Amino acid sequence: MFPPCDLRRVAEYVRQAETEELLDRVTVYRAGMEPAALELMEHELDRRGISPEEIADHEARRRQTAIMLPDGCALSCHFCWRPAVCQAWGWYKLWGLIPLFPRIFARCEVHGDYH
Ligand SMILES: [Zn+2]
Repeated sequence: MFPPCDLRRVAEYVRQAETEELLDRVTVYRAGMEPAALELMEHELDRRGISPEEIADHEARRRQTAIMLPDGCALSCHFCWRPAVCQAWGWYKLWGLIPLFPRIFARCEVHGDYH
């Protein structure tokens, strides 16, 4: 996800990321994160006043619905970073416009109602 050597870009990304995204990355996606990137994200959450208890709460909530993969990471939504809560058929679209063939899309709680 991040080139391991490009920490400056990661730091920039982390500063602009939504708190919810950072919470997801340090919890359900933790297994796939670079240790240095994790450190940056945890530091940023701390700076935003998010306590370790809130992070643990977030993880517990996510794990109730997330689809965990064998490598220890959550399956992510096809449309955003959030963990997918379901997989549903949809149309694969050429340039996002022309339906080509049906395929299964992983969808999060936000994108679950999208058809
Ligand atoms: Zn989504």
